[in-house]
Amino acid sequence: MTTLAAYAVRDDNSRGRQYTEPAPAARSEFQRDRDRIIHSTAFRRLEYKTQVFVNHEGDLFRTRLTHSIEVAQIARSIARALQLNEDLAEAVSLAHDLGHTPFGHAGQEALNACMKDYGGFEHNLQSLRTVEVLEERYGAFDGLNLTFETREGILKHCSPSKAQELGELGARFLNRTQPSLEAQICNLADEIAYNNHDIDDGLRSGLITEEQLANIPAYAMHEQAVRAQYPDIRGRRLVGETIRRMINAHVIDLIKTSEANILTLNPQSLDDIRNAGKPLIGFSPEMREQLLVLKQFLRTHLYRHYQVLRMTNKARRIVGDLFGAFMEEPALLPPQYQDMAKGGKPHLADASQARARAVADYIAGMTDRYAMKEHRRLFAVGEI
Ligand code: MG
Repeated sequence: MTTLAAYAVRDDNSRGRQYTEPAPAARSEFQRDRDRIIHSTAFRRLEYKTQVFVNHEGDLFRTRLTHSIEVAQIARSIARALQLNEDLAEAVSLAHDLGHTPFGHAGQEALNACMKDYGGFEHNLQSLRTVEVLEERYGAFDGLNLTFETREGILKHCSPSKAQELGELGARFLNRTQPSLEAQICNLADEIAYNNHDIDDGLRSGLITEEQLANIPAYAMHEQAVRAQYPDIRGRRLVGETIRRMINAHVIDLIKTSEANILTLNPQSLDDIRNAGKPLIGFSPEMREQLLVLKQFLRTHLYRHYQVLRMTNKARRIVGDLFGAFMEEPALLPPQYQDMAKGGKPHLADASQARARAVADYIAGMTDRYAMKEHRRLFAVGEI
């Protein structure tokens, strides 16, 4: 293992866990966090949750699980290159999407709309809620009792009003300090992963074409380099060679730019990172520009493709119907959610708030196929 930089997160500068536990015997605190995340129920469910394509649309598309694994791979490479805590980067990456609803962003938007009078729904906050409250695996506490730094990394963004409710974890959104570099890395590793795998999945599905991508410099420049090296290459191999070069270019740009930012600030401690005034992990302006064009392309041609919109429209209806049915009749909920709906956990004063939050927790935890099945069970005549 390489030596960690003075400003990396380590066991000895960690703010620790909410409930004190003995130090792990043969692993670091952050390895323990990663292990707890991998063994959680929410992590296993990621396999059956939509990234862009609904899980049953094809076996080769990314799911939330494979996306999270790709984010972890990219984040670990960057963390190691910058002498930062690879285990923390891995833990945050694997946990960052645990709070995602079924059906990707369509599900999140639908649930947020349903929850608008009850404090809203935000997948990022739900990821935190999953590891802090919802996982039931330990005798002494709710949740996974992860370290402050892992939870800090999971909470990528947060409104000022929510931040006030989150105490120590929300403080940085109010006093404008920065999270650890490891957390900053995970944020951008997420972006690198989805920008690249959405092109791959988009091409594989036929919703976008290589002809369209010929006008997108972030893709075209690498495709040309591949063709120059292998004049006869085509099909999946051409896409594979192009995307691996893209990922590499994004990662290397991020490492070089961040290294330069770190060198300029010359931080001596983790506190120097927190007080830096701005994030130090970032892309160069040229790469930012390239990625912006690429993102706009994906938004127009993939995320808003009519075939994707048909699915998202259906997802919205499923989530809305489920929410309505459970709010009207909480007795339809499984027993543990009925208890939560009654205000048993969390201890919410207002009864309809507690009910709405329990319903949102139940729906958010569903996989795509479970949500569809539950919808059939509740609404289809002739189903039980
Ligand atoms: Mg993600």
